[in-house]
Amino acid sequence: MPRALIINGKTIAEALRQEVATGAADLRRTRGIVPGLAVVLVGEDPASQVYVRTKVKATRDVGMVSFEHKLPADAPEAGLLTLIAELNARQDVHGILVQLPLPSQIDTRHVIEALDPTKDVDGFHPINIGRLASGAHALAPCTPAGCVILAKSVRSDLAGLEAVVIGRSNIVGKPMAQLLLNENCTVTVAHSRTRDLPAVVRRADLVVAAVGRAEMVRGDWIKAGATVIDVGIQRVPGPDGRSRLVGDVAFAEAIKVAGAVTPVPGGVGPMTVACLLKNTLEAAKAGAKA
Ligand code: NAD
Repeated sequence: MPRALIINGKTIAEALRQEVATGAADLRRTRGIVPGLAVVLVGEDPASQVYVRTKVKATRDVGMVSFEHKLPADAPEAGLLTLIAELNARQDVHGILVQLPLPSQIDTRHVIEALDPTKDVDGFHPINIGRLASGAHALAPCTPAGCVILAKSVRSDLAGLEAVVIGRSNIVGKPMAQLLLNENCTVTVAHSRTRDLPAVVRRADLVVAAVGRAEMVRGDWIKAGATVIDVGIQRVPGPDGRSRLVGDVAFAEAIKVAGAVTPVPGGVGPMTVACLLKNTLEAAKAGAKA
């Protein structure tokens, strides 16, 4: 029985982090600039706290500076907008990341639109979304940018591939589709209202699953030899009573059919943080030129 290549996101992310560390060291040596990333956390959501800690550590590990800003859960929107205006104006801050989700009294859209687009390392500002959609150079959202790198680790040229993206969120599915279009794939975006999803997925040479439904994509949905990138991550009860993490793809079935599959964990997850560092370095370099 053929077995798919398991794409090692940890190794590929580590290589990217090394590249960023080298780039950051060069920028410090040649221009005296140390890339700085400001991370803003509002409230005490435990998952968000873990994400922020991970990002802060990863930033420092590649020789960049991390500035942490914590606001209480009941912080008014105006207070957060004032902080963003300050960070926009600071010369030592090249990237700003506001950890989502935000508490309900704050309109996420107002916050994203208040960011200086050149410091929007999450790639969520309408200017960056528009630049991405028009094929211009943009700070691209980190998770889908990481997925492209993983897909290209299997096959460096994605041109002409039938790509199916499952999910149409603003942070993953939609920018994923744009990035794959920019790679000259023929892109289909499937979502909760798609008719006969298995038939749509069976057409794909490249599947990106970003739904958030444990093991929804079955092995018999996958075309033989396809590359499967699994963005989903869910904690489910395991057979031994302990919980385990699974993706949107039934991994044990997929590896029997696909050409290459990302595991969960250890696939897309590590790439997201590595791409955030890459965007921060890019923002610092662009700032140095301006
Ligand atoms: P979301 O809930 O915003 O969007 C889910 C999308 O899936 C929607 O567009 C919806 O139309 C589609 N969908 C829902 N049910 C469907 C169905 N039955 N068939 C087809 N499509 C369906 O989620 P998101 O923020 O895009 O995240 C998706 C998953 O990716 C989640 O599991 C999330 O935890 C994970 N994620 C992982 C990373 C990472 O770094 N590894 C980053 C972001 C998101």
